[in-house]
Amino acid sequence: MVRQVKVGNVLIGSGRAVIIAGPCSVEPGYVNVAERTASAGADILRAFVYKHRTSPHSFQGMGNEGIKLVREAKARTGLPVLIEPLSTKHVEELAEVADALQIGSRGMQNVELLRAVGEIEIPVILKRGLASTYDEWLSATEYIEVGGNSQIILCERGIRTFETRTRNTLDLAAVPYLRTVCDYPIIVDPSHASGNRNLVPPLVEAGLAIGADGIEVEAHTSPDEALSDAAQTIAMDDLARVCSRRDWYWAHSTHRPDSLEESRALIDALDVALIQLVESRIAVSKSIMTIKETAGIPIHQPGREDGVISAWLHGARLQTPVQARKVAESIVQMCREVQQPQEPKVSTGL
Ligand code: PEP
Ligand code: MN
Repeated sequence: MVRQVKVGNVLIGSGRAVIIAGPCSVEPGYVNVAERTASAGADILRAFVYKHRTSPHSFQGMGNEGIKLVREAKARTGLPVLIEPLSTKHVEELAEVADALQIGSRGMQNVELLRAVGEIEIPVILKRGLASTYDEWLSATEYIEVGGNSQIILCERGIRTFETRTRNTLDLAAVPYLRTVCDYPIIVDPSHASGNRNLVPPLVEAGLAIGADGIEVEAHTSPDEALSDAAQTIAMDDLARVCSRRDWYWAHSTHRPDSLEESRALIDALDVALIQLVESRIAVSKSIMTIKETAGIPIHQPGREDGVISAWLHGARLQTPVQARKVAESIVQMCREVQQPQEPKVSTGL
């Protein structure tokens, strides 16, 4: 069992992957970006007011001015916010506004910082250090746990390898491997792992497929204009797709929520998945019609339809044979209807 951690009203480790999204840093215009991030379907906002940058000449974050924007974004979207303290002196100040604190890859080995977040009651997203082993990463969780804080979520964000074409190398094995040795929820950050926005959607897909409890992703309304990490920042349309893929994977998971609210949300996700499947089936039926027409084969082949229906009867577990037959026949019939050669439209105009 995965230990569940609640960030604001969002449960991480529930079986439905959470999407944490927003720009790399809080910057002027953040509130609008946050609203669009929420509309795209994100659950938690990235709200990084202090930034660890490789160069001291790069944008370092808005600091206190940024906190005002974060408060406004929180009020407008109703979403919980994730912020990173760079040092112990930020911890208390940020805990007042943040719903979760992130310890970034550079902070993972800062034992004073780990102790400081361990001594307060706040969920902590602990990223993997740039060159840390699983054991070193898990030792960092112990620094947090000894202070009394067990609300920890691990985040795989790529490690430094000999490869230079990608910013880091995403170690997806971390997700299934760590499941065998700890019960922390594990999320995946494909943005810092790849450094390349074109690689983010496929890596999100991989993270969801491998069962990550969440995805942390950099997104912006004008990705090219983001003040930091523009190259790895995705646009809002892509973020909306990421959120719908999350629901697709949720719909296919075996996890069954026990609350009414979550169960209804799962039903909605299942219906979206069913609609997509039926649409795909119709599209294939149409192309079969074209193939048959070209080859001069009769379009309706009752023997084949019987085979399709018996496959349904064979595969159904929770449906009675009568119910399974009804569903199968109605789908077969629908696909048969779309296979009718289209009548040329007759103009009724004068
Ligand atoms: C971040 O998430 O903003 C960040 C700096 O990530 P990392 O610590 O993984 O580099
Ligand atoms: Mn970044």
